[in-house]
Amino acid sequence: MFLITCPVTGTDELVAERRIRSVVNHPTHIALHVECPCGELHVYRTGRRWTAAAQRRTADADRALVGV
Ligand SMILES: [Zn+2]
Repeated sequence: MFLITCPVTGTDELVAERRIRSVVNHPTHIALHVECPCGELHVYRTGRRWTAAAQRRTADADRALVGV
């Protein structure tokens, strides 16, 4: 079991591994296609490089906000 946040309902959903429809390994991240209890298929991207890139994007956005 693992926890996802549904982008449709905005709620946290506990889903079983069998709900994973596919796992695609990209150079920068892993894309999980998960069948959500809401009935839709959502894509979740994860992985160390994806997290690092997301942190850089957030830092860049923060710098843009303060004008540094
Ligand atoms: Zn959903």
